[in-house]
Amino acid sequence: MPWSDYLPARASTAPMIGAELTCYPYISGFGLAQRIVTLALPSPSDMVRLGFRNRASMDVLLATQSRSKTRFSLLWELGLGHTTIADFWSPSAWSPVQCGRLFERHVRPVRQCPECVRHGYHNAAFQLPSLDACPWHRERLRSTCEHCGRIVFAQFQDGDRLGVCSCGISFIDPRLALTEMHSFPRGEASAWLEEFREWSCAQRAMRWIQVPEQATDWDAAFCAIAGVAQSGMGAGEGSGASGPAPMQVFDGATEDPPEGALWGWCHLGGSQTLRCAPLPASVFVLLQAVTRAVVQKVSVDGISCLEPWVHDGLTPGPAELGGATNGGSGQGWLAPYGRSAAGQVWLNLSVVDRQVTAACGALLELVACELADLPLVSDVSPQHAISCALDQVQGRSLLIAALLACLERAFSQGLTSVLRGFWGNGQPRSCIEAPCFGIVGAPGHLQSMQLVWVPIALLPPTGPKSGASDDKAVRPAKASGKRKLEAVKRRGIKAPRILK
Ligand SMILES: [Zn+2]
Ligand SMILES: [Zn+2]
Repeated sequence: MPWSDYLPARASTAPMIGAELTCYPYISGFGLAQRIVTLALPSPSDMVRLGFRNRASMDVLLATQSRSKTRFSLLWELGLGHTTIADFWSPSAWSPVQCGRLFERHVRPVRQCPECVRHGYHNAAFQLPSLDACPWHRERLRSTCEHCGRIVFAQFQDGDRLGVCSCGISFIDPRLALTEMHSFPRGEASAWLEEFREWSCAQRAMRWIQVPEQATDWDAAFCAIAGVAQSGMGAGEGSGASGPAPMQVFDGATEDPPEGALWGWCHLGGSQTLRCAPLPASVFVLLQAVTRAVVQKVSVDGISCLEPWVHDGLTPGPAELGGATNGGSGQGWLAPYGRSAAGQVWLNLSVVDRQVTAACGALLELVACELADLPLVSDVSPQHAISCALDQVQGRSLLIAALLACLERAFSQGLTSVLRGFWGNGQPRSCIEAPCFGIVGAPGHLQSMQLVWVPIALLPPTGPKSGASDDKAVRPAKASGKRKLEAVKRRGIKAPRILK
């Protein structure tokens, strides 16, 4: 649908200077706000009517891209309340991957085209890290001030100014933005945006991205995962704000495991804090190898031997470490404590950071919700409900492969850190890596998965002080059913009913 079809009949005479829409196809709410604030110079009371009441703390991108009071007031004041133009104000409306509320989680810099911004024009698609240049000006999108190099945010500066850097430079050229607004390449912009939107809509029907909840530095991961789709459309290899991050891809034809194979994996993260999961014996063997590699890499003084752990006939191996400095008494980190009826091994994964297991749990729930039929009400545990839902998905072995790769790296990362901390010569960690997943598929069918690692700030420690073996994490968490349910609801996932 062309841009003019979204505009009310009177759009040629805007109710306010700066609010002209015909020349500026699919302009974002922030673009509209920065034009009005710069060109119409509204009084403080006008500002309040336009929805900009708490200007000291407001981020105009966040305030306009979601359904907020500000967005409602702005539309209403400009006589646009009955139009759907605000549907284009969120980057997720342009994203080729479904990303939920990712762009609303935290304040992000404004990305602008140096030519478009002279008109005060900004498009929500510019916020996609996978788009690196203005498609009609071919100018690189930038989020820093070219005068002082500071990162630019969608916030009001001194004197209620918007569209300016904190150094005082204004990005908008009032003469161009008002008397010469017709010089904006609206035909070219419209054509590109309409084609892009149609294409990204089609891509979104089968692509999702899952970013860890606390991550803020996910641009490169988004670029890699969305870039797979976007390489033929407006962006390419090496494009984006920071270039794509290295990515592991899981695809191709594989044989799916029997029903119930994901039950153990469903114990990772999700609605519980327990980090003990019944996983196939092959995972135990893999993590033993990781343990050996980590011990060799860390080579801290004091670990003189790896004491074999033999339990319940399991393969002996360096799951438990001992050393001269701790009197030879072993510290267990992988510590299997038995086999499940199905022959799986319960593993203590307490060295794996809880943000990683939470990301794994969120991935399983997302796939169960989007590609399978996760019942709204169920008389079984959430783990069982998700596991049963995933049994309906063809290609679920790709999910297992991605989780296995994730666990391997996270276990290595966690064990390295614990060993360095335990023997007292390690650097305190402030940052770890957590997995970001890309999913491609359709209901009942998982086609491929992508895994990219993003840096993430460490959560404040809970339980025993860091460095020591995190034994408490192995005990069943005492979360009540209600709290579990709330945790599931907070993530906006259909929650299975939990029986007492
Ligand atoms: Zn431009
Ligand atoms: Zn500046």
